Amino acid sequence: MDRQTAGLGQDPDANGFFGRYGGMFLPPQLEEPFAEIIEAYHRIANDATFINELRMIRKTFQGRPTPVYHARNLSLKNGGAQIYLKREDLNHTGAHKLNHCMGEGLLAKFMGKKKLIAETGAGQHGVALATAAAYFGLDCEIHMGEVDIAKQQPNVLRMRLLGAKVVPVTFGLRTLKEAVDSAFEAYLADPKNAIYCIGSVVGPHPFPLMVRDFQKVVGIEAREQFLEMTGNLPDAICACVGGGSNAMGLFSGFLNDPTVGIYGVEPLGRGPGVGDNAATMSYGREGVIHGFRCYLLQNEDGSPAPVYSCASGLDYPGVGPEHCYLKDAGRVSYVSCTDGECRDAFFQLCRLEGIIPALESAHAVAFALKKAREVGRGTILVNLSGRGDKDMDYVIENWGIGEA
Ligand SMILES: *Cc1c(COP(=O)(O)O)cnc(C)c1O
Repeated sequence: MDRQTAGLGQDPDANGFFGRYGGMFLPPQLEEPFAEIIEAYHRIANDATFINELRMIRKTFQGRPTPVYHARNLSLKNGGAQIYLKREDLNHTGAHKLNHCMGEGLLAKFMGKKKLIAETGAGQHGVALATAAAYFGLDCEIHMGEVDIAKQQPNVLRMRLLGAKVVPVTFGLRTLKEAVDSAFEAYLADPKNAIYCIGSVVGPHPFPLMVRDFQKVVGIEAREQFLEMTGNLPDAICACVGGGSNAMGLFSGFLNDPTVGIYGVEPLGRGPGVGDNAATMSYGREGVIHGFRCYLLQNEDGSPAPVYSCASGLDYPGVGPEHCYLKDAGRVSYVSCTDGECRDAFFQLCRLEGIIPALESAHAVAFALKKAREVGRGTILVNLSGRGDKDMDYVIENWGIGEA
């Protein structure tokens, strides 16, 4: 199964569609600025100066390559399959998000932009983008709902320390959805000097393509490292899926390896009820959100349904278009883990390996543990997308310190 015959791991068509999904559903005023971004991205994607600068940044600023680690204690405890972790928690700022934020910042610089604009929910994308803005000497404006600002003080302070302006959003429910609207409006007001930077493989074309390309480094490194460590490819790989950027990064390195089983792990939260999870692939149906077509958790009238997960980075009602395409093509299996399974994996990783994972990443670990117990042999490579310092307050308040 090569790239061509499989028809997988390819770029979207000229209109940004991966099969039925993706595209550009834009207000007329944004058509020209987006055309400009597409043109610039295709130019720099083949430009040696850009690629070399990005390589240098990854090595000297981000601390890449991040290692692959064999979690022996965790493997032993869970019945035999050997579990390996791609340590994106060791990337600068503690998660994979900086991989695409540095790419977006570099693109902005090449395009002569002065300002990066984005929204943030829990603040993780905001912190990564503020870091990129500081590095490139660009202004940075992060739109954030008032409710989230109150809940996420440490990240608000981080963004401000890094020099970003945090704009409180005071209308509607004052959370992520309104923050997106507010950030889009700010971008509409000044598309010449500013660029809008999306935080995952979502949004209108070319962002799902561009963010995936910037995250590909995870899969390329991991494949090489795993082969070097074990002499083989992993039997299975998995990653958590919110919008789907860390998953696309890892998966893109292995899509054309037919022996490798690929699993995207969505949050099942409190269970299958409406508003109790954010398992878009299991319970969503096709719809349009934030300028692109995808599986979508939606109400009868097509508006986005309420979503929930203990991991705030996973509670998005849509999902990246390439994931939707890979699901329909049957190349990737989408599965889910509950809050409870996430909690168990979180404490196991703390106690057995000395790694405090992000709650998002603990979903991927939880699936790997289930799979390891089920198959009892072979190898599983997990993308450990981030570290869990940001989740301390939540964990202690809701789950305690994890004594049995
Ligand atoms: C934001 C975040 C995610 C979810 O985003 P994706 O685009 O689905 O990767 C996962 N893990 C961590 C640590 C995050 O911060």
